[in-house]
Amino acid sequence: MTSIAFAILLTVLPSMNLDRETAKTQIPRVERIARSLHTDSKLANWTIIVLDLGEFQQACPYEVDKFEACSDPKTDVTRVNADWLMWGVSDKKLRHVLAHEAGHLISGSADEDVADRTGATL
Ligand SMILES: [Zn+2]
Repeated sequence: MTSIAFAILLTVLPSMNLDRETAKTQIPRVERIARSLHTDSKLANWTIIVLDLGEFQQACPYEVDKFEACSDPKTDVTRVNADWLMWGVSDKKLRHVLAHEAGHLISGSADEDVADRTGATL
């Protein structure tokens, strides 16, 4: 098999109900930080959706105790709670959470420790 180098196809999108001001400030921020992670060759496609609180709670009901983000390894989609982003979350904390979520997608594991360990290498 030929090995090919490829860059990640990263898409960061606002959810349907996300207000425009939040989208304007947070979408570029999330994209910039997600691109700073070294996911090339580990993750071919990564879609990040920034959702308002109601949409986030609907999309991530299985992690009710988790307020930041959730990921679906079947679709390589990460959902981020815009309310959490707006609460003055530092870039460093956001990077840590995105790395953890990418860790879920790369490892294909729902295990939090595995996601942490994989995310820490990015
Ligand atoms: Zn997790």
